[in-house]
Amino acid sequence: MSTLQRVAGGVTPAPAPNGPLGIFGGTFDPIHYGHLRTAFELLQRLSLAEVRFIPVGTPAHRGNTLAPASVRLAMVQAAIAGQLEFTVDEREIRKATPSYTIDTLEELRVEFPSRPLCLCVGMDAFLGLSGWHRWSELLNFAHLVVAHRPGWQAPTDGLLGTLLASRGTVHAEQLHASPAGRIFIHAVTQLEISSTEVRSLLDAGRDPRYLMPDSVRQILLKSGWYARKEKASG
Ligand code: ATP
Repeated sequence: MSTLQRVAGGVTPAPAPNGPLGIFGGTFDPIHYGHLRTAFELLQRLSLAEVRFIPVGTPAHRGNTLAPASVRLAMVQAAIAGQLEFTVDEREIRKATPSYTIDTLEELRVEFPSRPLCLCVGMDAFLGLSGWHRWSELLNFAHLVVAHRPGWQAPTDGLLGTLLASRGTVHAEQLHASPAGRIFIHAVTQLEISSTEVRSLLDAGRDPRYLMPDSVRQILLKSGWYARKEKASG
């Protein structure tokens, strides 16, 4: 089989099977173009071999998600269809207990003993890092790739500022050279979309068209989970 695959606009080398694996976790309630464009830009900029979307089952860091895991999973599957390097990993939604990122990273490290793992998070998520379960061990298992989100600045002092000073790098090649341990901040196209905003829009009876692929919008509307709630009168 050829190691080259045809993509729109030319022929590019097929992803290296042992190249860096991007990990993009989220509640995806629902998935939107902010997630997809960010993942795509990181895939390209960092020459990742794959970006794995890992929908959270029972979130450990926030209240219950609105839509059940099956609906959120179906939306992620629809969203990534046709993008060969995008995959979905169902391990967290199969768990009955809250999902901790560190557990997922530990499992992936067993599966991929020496492959670079790149945990991709938005700047908002990075700023809350010290609240994550066993957060100080994360860099033992993966690199951290932080996507700039609208309105969020990288910390220059405090715990995260110090961590950035010692582990930060501006050289994407360093993410290929070791399996874990570096932090790379990358400015992505600023798409001011959040799942919260999509949900409020739906709750206001408005249409989320063009904020997400239409295949996702169709599942979302059909599921009924995001339908406008009756407001209590009086
Ligand atoms: P919510 O509004 O419900 O908190 P969200 O839109 O932030 O959801 P999540 O599923 O919680 O989406 O986020 C998964 C990851 O995607 C996080 O690391 C988050 O920072 C990142 N992310 C979400 N929206 C964007 C965006 N518009 N641009 C860049 N990164 C984003």
